[in-house]
Order: sequence, then C-alpha cells, then structure tokens
Amino acid sequence: MMLQELRKEVYKCNLMLPENDLIKMTSGNVSGRDPETNLVVIKPSGIAYEELSPEAMVIVDLDGKVVEGELTPSIDTETHLVVYRARPDVFGMVHTHSPYATSFAVVNKPIPPMTTTCGLIGGGVPLGGFACFGGEAIGDEILRVIGSSRAVIMQSHGVFTIGNSAAQATRVAVEVEEMAKIAHFAMQIGTPIILTDEQIEEVSSGYQNNYGQKK
Ligand SMILES: [Zn+2]
Repeated sequence: MMLQELRKEVYKCNLMLPENDLIKMTSGNVSGRDPETNLVVIKPSGIAYEELSPEAMVIVDLDGKVVEGELTPSIDTETHLVVYRARPDVFGMVHTHSPYATSFAVVNKPIPPMTTTCGLIGGGVPLGGFACFGGEAIGDEILRVIGSSRAVIMQSHGVFTIGNSAAQATRVAVEVEEMAKIAHFAMQIGTPIILTDEQIEEVSSGYQNNYGQKK
C-alpha cells in the first residue's frame, strides 16, 4: 500500500474533526499531499468516521484520478485539487461546517482577527462568495479570497483551511472555530477589539519562533 505515513496522518486528522466538534455525521474532510509524488490522500465519501482507517483513505492524482483505494473519494475532492494545483506551498487541506465559524459565513461576515491565536490562522478569516460544493468553482473562489490567510469561510456553506501539512490545516480548522466562538460570545456583551496588522504580525512570528519544544 502506498504512502502509509501520509495515510496515517490524514486518517488521524480526519478523526480530530468529530473529536473537536467541528463536524456532524459524515460531513467534513481532510486531505494531505505527498511532496515527492504530488499524490493526494483524502477521506472517502460518506463513510462514518468510526469506520475509517488509514487503509480506507483514497489516493488520487492532481487530476482526480484514483490511484489507490476501493472507495469513492470525498465529494469535495475536486475543490481540494483546484487549491493544490494552484498553490504548491499547500500540503494539507481541511473542510468543515463548524457551526460558530459557519454562522459568520451565513450572515456574510468575515471573522475578524480578535484573539492572539489568529497568529496561527494568518490573521482574520476572509469570506468567499457562494459557489455550490463539489466543483471547481468553489475551489476558484477559495483561491480568489484566501490571500495569505490559512483559512476562508464560504458564504452559506462552511470553512476551508490550508497548511504545510494535514496536521497544520487541522490545527487551523480547530483555531478558526475557537476564534469564531469567542467572537460570537464577545459580540453579545460588547464590541470586540480587532487586532492591528502590526499586532497580527507580532503574534504570527511569536508562534513561528517561540511556540512548542525547542529542537
Ligand atoms: Zn461542505
């Protein structure tokens, strides 16, 4: 079986979606791209999370052809591939309908950068216009609006995040929901303070340079 390590990582990241209350039932998906072969490992379509395994993940090439796997890949596969084709720096991608973040997308508001964890996201979360799920159009819209952020919310739909690995994109998806939740509560009791570009840069480099265990 090909790309065993990446299969394991993508499998584990998929499980983190229900573990972190980012999805219900079978919705949501995580993919990861192998830097050597450019092959993409992605969750199969419509399979319950408890039935997933590393072996159940599907491997596709950048044109969407199934290279290895018995199951049909996620309905959002083409969307992931549009992003991978256009962004050689992206090696992981996540899609959820996590409710606090998606509620911003439903009222057509971007999520403002209002906590220091926005340093992990790359600032606020921009908002993309409506495009039906599953096709190239939504991938094009993600690329149009995402800029230097690692996340975007799509009108009337949900969240897409990107990263230098499936694990990073998953971390970002969790942080986006957390920031949206805090924004939601904050807006009940007052007007949130939005971080300035300088502050965003400061907290971003703080995460880049000082976070985690020293090697
Ligand atoms: Zn969706």
